[in-house]
Amino acid sequence: METLRKIAYFSMEIALDAEIPTYAGGLGILAGDTLRAGADLRLPVCAVTLLHRKGYFRQRLDDSGWQFEEEDPWDIEKYLTPMEPRVKLTLDEREVWVRCWRYEIEGQMGDNIPVYLLDTDVEENSEWDRHLTDRLYLGDHYFRICQEAVLGIGGVRMLRALGYEQLARFHMNEGHSAFLGLELLDEEMSLRGSEEIDDAMLHAVRRKCVFTTHTPVPAGHDQFSLEMARKVLGHHEAFFKRRDLFEPVKCATDCLNMTYLALNLSHYVNGVAKRHAEVSRLMFADHEIDSITNGVHAGTWVCQSMQSLFEKWIPDWKLDNFNMRSSLSIPDDDLWRAHQAAKNDLCDYIVNETGEQFSLDVLTLGFARRATSYKRPKLLFENKEWLFEIAKKAGGLQLVFAGKAHPGDDLGKFFIQDIIRMRADFAEHGIKIVYLENYDMKLAKYLVSGVDVWLNTPQPPMEASGTSGMKAALNGVPSLSVLDGWWIEGCVEGVTGWAIECPSGGRDARSLYEKLEQQIVPLYCERRHEFINIMRHAIALNGSFFNTQRMMLQYLARAYFL
Ligand SMILES: *Cc1c(COP(=O)(O)O)cnc(C)c1O
Repeated sequence: METLRKIAYFSMEIALDAEIPTYAGGLGILAGDTLRAGADLRLPVCAVTLLHRKGYFRQRLDDSGWQFEEEDPWDIEKYLTPMEPRVKLTLDEREVWVRCWRYEIEGQMGDNIPVYLLDTDVEENSEWDRHLTDRLYLGDHYFRICQEAVLGIGGVRMLRALGYEQLARFHMNEGHSAFLGLELLDEEMSLRGSEEIDDAMLHAVRRKCVFTTHTPVPAGHDQFSLEMARKVLGHHEAFFKRRDLFEPVKCATDCLNMTYLALNLSHYVNGVAKRHAEVSRLMFADHEIDSITNGVHAGTWVCQSMQSLFEKWIPDWKLDNFNMRSSLSIPDDDLWRAHQAAKNDLCDYIVNETGEQFSLDVLTLGFARRATSYKRPKLLFENKEWLFEIAKKAGGLQLVFAGKAHPGDDLGKFFIQDIIRMRADFAEHGIKIVYLENYDMKLAKYLVSGVDVWLNTPQPPMEASGTSGMKAALNGVPSLSVLDGWWIEGCVEGVTGWAIECPSGGRDARSLYEKLEQQIVPLYCERRHEFINIMRHAIALNGSFFNTQRMMLQYLARAYFL
């Protein structure tokens, strides 16, 4: 029976399908990949998120390279089924009604995972409340706390109204959904007819909750002033008496911190890579924090030509991703041909979008991520002369960029503009640069499979995990990356890719150029079979491990059924 499902997965964003723009980036992609693997593994999971009628935003770049944001409405009725139940919550003394829509994630074995997308656009609500579930990550603090209350409190109430009575675990993918713990506490209190929160109730709620944290810096954690929280959440006297549940120990901040709330209400907490868990333990010394390294969903991210190759050489690669270790026996020619087919598809995409003709035979680097300072999108350009030199030795270079800046992040928008403005100058030195508009799932798949090397230059320890390099690895595309996030675990130097070393003096660009000049270019241009061997090991060592099948099995063993 559908409603006997045991695990409820909550996330502010979920990338359900390339045609459904209900995600902003890595967090949403991870949520989608998690659920896709859950469906493949036939796990008894259901999921809750918000509808995001108008998506995150569609990125447009004008002639000067400046980013503009457009609403990104989508055809809800085409993909979703409206559900009957309506639930109600009180926000700042207003009654807000919530309905939901159902999306089915199909597993390979024919089992589905239902995803419920909450929607406040119903007639009974005020005009303002009707827009609460329209857009992802926009609006001020007040808007955000209302959205998060709809997700956490409205989400639990909706699952109950849909008939889910057997839920034993509630998984919070980041702190946005932590108000679900508040609702579970309310359930306990009314069950026991109590007006206070006692240890037994806390214990009961903690048994049910699992929290995955994604943010390596304190500033990244959501918090709201206590005054606002009281105003919006209203009658929760027992809860607001227990400030230890949502503030740091011995340090009154007069804020309700969503990360502390999630930490304090969960029996199991994890970071998304080994290094990230270490960093999180320093931030939250009073909590035990495990690590389960992220993955990606192989069936979603392996491109067509690679899928055909795997079908031929790796029986059951999709059903059980561990089988990808067998990629070591794929012959050079076959692997190269499949890669070139993917590169050809990317070149077609590029010429259609920009008119720029990329060559199949020139070393091509890919860089796609949110345009923001810590990702250091311009590190590659720190020493132009050196880069020109390298391009000369390589017989040219092709650079493909993509990524959105957060609408409020002008610095990020300047990064994009700067890169676009360098094009003409670089073209004279044999370096082609394109910046592709509107980075999304569809474009990501072209990029991670079609470039030759995947570049990543975050400022450590800011990259909690990173997943795009894992997608590249699955497609036989090795990474050249700073040792941070997952790459600390995934990099075997010269075997699965290359590390950009980060000496404390900030000479990271030097290491980047050295690796390009001394390792990558000679292998790509002169010792192709050695380059292909690295591609093969990217699949065998990293594709077989950094996938959401392995990740879900770890959640199952450690978090869900402990
Ligand atoms: C995979 C992916 C991301 C996350 O990639 P990172 O390496 O974590 O930056 C973001 N956006 C899209 C569209 C993706 O496909």
